[in-house]
Amino acid sequence: MNTDAPSARPSGVRGPGSGVGETWGFRGYRALLAERFPGMRVRKLCLQAGFTCPNLDGTVAKGGCAWCDNRGFSPGLQLPSLERQWERGRDALRRRHRRVDGFIAYLQSFSNTYAPVEHLRTLYARFPADFPECVGLSIGSRPDCVPDEVLDLLAETAQRTFTTLELGLQSDRDAVLRRMNRGHTVAQFLDAVRRAAARRLELCAHVILGLPGEGDDAPERLGTLLAGLPVASVKIHNLHVMRGTPLERMHLPELPRPEYVDRAARLIARLRHDQALQRVVADAPDAILASGGWCHDKQGVLGDLRRRLGSARPDQHAGVPAAESQELAQSVA
Ligand code: SF4
Repeated sequence: MNTDAPSARPSGVRGPGSGVGETWGFRGYRALLAERFPGMRVRKLCLQAGFTCPNLDGTVAKGGCAWCDNRGFSPGLQLPSLERQWERGRDALRRRHRRVDGFIAYLQSFSNTYAPVEHLRTLYARFPADFPECVGLSIGSRPDCVPDEVLDLLAETAQRTFTTLELGLQSDRDAVLRRMNRGHTVAQFLDAVRRAAARRLELCAHVILGLPGEGDDAPERLGTLLAGLPVASVKIHNLHVMRGTPLERMHLPELPRPEYVDRAARLIARLRHDQALQRVVADAPDAILASGGWCHDKQGVLGDLRRRLGSARPDQHAGVPAAESQELAQSVA
């Protein structure tokens, strides 16, 4: 499942990816990056570093998460070198954006901490050393793939370059995670967050809206949970149904666009003001998408979200008061 940030937004809309991100009453990711990299325009550049996933290779489970489109999964797959991927990604980003001053290497596919720690040490040490214009590292993984020695390594890495650990929670209900063959529990996510925060690692949490059994109040529950955690940014994902996945065989109804927008807005309304949104809707190519294509219209979805949030009362834009959030964050850390 693609977990990258939205690429398009209505002109004039400030929100996720817009650089300022306060107009809707919440913070866009570019606002967070502007704070971390003053005066610079920084973009994430996706790289595949040849990892696998314990939920695919049989260590935790086989088949992966029900939504996982793992046709690219092959332990012996020959990938282009990181240098080649970097050049391609850099050139594509430069074509797409008028100004880019630096790139965060984003290790996105599969579980990018799932390897012996010495292998990880060698890989992470390449950033930024081997890649001019690299200003940081963002590492996507699972809560069950971050033992203490890996977190220690990430903390070391963060001493020399901007480092974010992205962890998937997806749902706050174990029954939903089990049904989706996610292979970890909510408690494992909370434990990983607690141990990472104890090392002062910057964290991004991923959640999905539209999972079967999540409950009508999932947005409020998830938003309140995330607001109480030491998580700097959040990615909210609409549930894609990809061709050939277990999810497709479940024949579940997809959330219609207005319902997704409503749920995303309700979740966002619960987040803290200091938490940045890295994504609020994600797209997938028609060739692999089995569900309806409303996600292709990102601009329209973002516009709907802006209107929905704009019509919310100001006091609905921060469901958890700052003091209470701090208390919760400290109790987790
Ligand atoms: S954790 Fe990611 S790579 Fe692993 S099975 Fe789930 S979606 Fe696929």
